[in-house]
Amino acid sequence: MIERLQAPRGTFDVLPDDSERRAAVEAAARQVLGAAGYRRIETPAFEATELFARGVGESTDIVQKEMYTFEDGGGRSLTLRPEGTAPICRAYAEHGMHKLAQPVKLWYLSSFFRFERAQAGRYRQFWQVGAEALGSDDPAVDAESILLAVALLDELEVQQVRVRVSSLGSLAARRDYRERLQEHLRAHADQLSAEVRARIDLNPLRAFDSDHPDTREVMREAPRLLDFLSAQDAEHFAAVRALLDAADLDYEVDPTLVRGLDYYTRTVFEIESGALGAQSAVGGGGRYDGLVEQVGGPPTPGMGWAAGVERMLLAAGEGRAVAPEVDLYVAVDGGQPARQAAFALAAEARRARLHAQLELGGRSLKGQLKQAGRVSARYVAIVGDTGSALRDMDSGDQEDVQVSGVVARVLRELRGLGA
Ligand code: ATP
Ligand code: MG
Repeated sequence: MIERLQAPRGTFDVLPDDSERRAAVEAAARQVLGAAGYRRIETPAFEATELFARGVGESTDIVQKEMYTFEDGGGRSLTLRPEGTAPICRAYAEHGMHKLAQPVKLWYLSSFFRFERAQAGRYRQFWQVGAEALGSDDPAVDAESILLAVALLDELEVQQVRVRVSSLGSLAARRDYRERLQEHLRAHADQLSAEVRARIDLNPLRAFDSDHPDTREVMREAPRLLDFLSAQDAEHFAAVRALLDAADLDYEVDPTLVRGLDYYTRTVFEIESGALGAQSAVGGGGRYDGLVEQVGGPPTPGMGWAAGVERMLLAAGEGRAVAPEVDLYVAVDGGQPARQAAFALAAEARRARLHAQLELGGRSLKGQLKQAGRVSARYVAIVGDTGSALRDMDSGDQEDVQVSGVVARVLRELRGLGA
């Protein structure tokens, strides 16, 4: 026996029923984000490795251990995109989008790749919807961006949504703070998990994410970044909160919130759903005022977020899969002439924009009528060698009609005009 091949670990097939639900996510994103003036962008599935090393940051988990990096035939190092923000900043700079009216508001729905431990809600190829607004540091951009993320989740009926917000301040303030935090961590090094201890130099902020009990104890006493913000950063954060309050958003300020990417400045936020288990984060994002410059563009402020499609679908519960509508099922009751006439009729019906399906399974007439019922066809044309009939599947009425008259007849009936 030949071994049966399987999709790689951590990947999945999007089967037709799943793809209907994903189409609903796409439609909701287009509606919510499009209405706010965001336009869709797609960047390549792989980029120069350098983009992520510089943009996402050498010290992050993503760059350290989660990237699919390979060398192509030309000896260049390429990486399957692990996230969407750095590529969009690259595209913004590459296409001179700073010359457009600012902010430039973009959204995407794409697949991303991270080498992670695969489990429910955590895959190696997964999809994200994201939105980015580049070119304005107005706190209203931050607040609007957060509201749009929540609006999308609401539109998809994602259950038990919790929003946490914080500010990381500017990169300079963060450097000072990092040193204070490192001092605190070193002073309590013997209580920390080995992993956190190993990252004191490289990425001390991630210690806030640890679920190791003694580490958590140490972190309760740790200095808080929110107390180290510059006056301007604190003012910016207060303005964002005032706008969120004005919009009546339910959220929580969480001073321990850190995000897994180095590029964030000022506002950061995360959205969780109580309907998810361990992988409770549905989406998150923040401001990244240095990133466009970091990838070689002009100094440009930016703000955005991404939400995981699979986790949104998990948290939205089982939606009803909607199969495509069928206006006309073309059944064959005869030999070669009937088959040809039926084929031509299905093609004609589709040219007239009807949803038409042709019998392709070699079924008996009885089997074909059963199949038409299964796909909920509205009408069935039964095409014979010498004549044909049209059956109304709602009423069960059947009439003889000329093949050449079927499409016009169905169109009239569907428009409620009768025969
Ligand atoms: P987590 O804490 O779960 O690892 P993250 O902070 O790495 O998430 P982000 O980089 O902020 O995630 O990505 C935004 C969203 O994308 C997440 O909230 C999640 O919904 C989704 N996501 C991230 N990684 C994966 C993955 N490996 N599989 C499925 N969805 C993912
Ligand atoms: Mg992660």
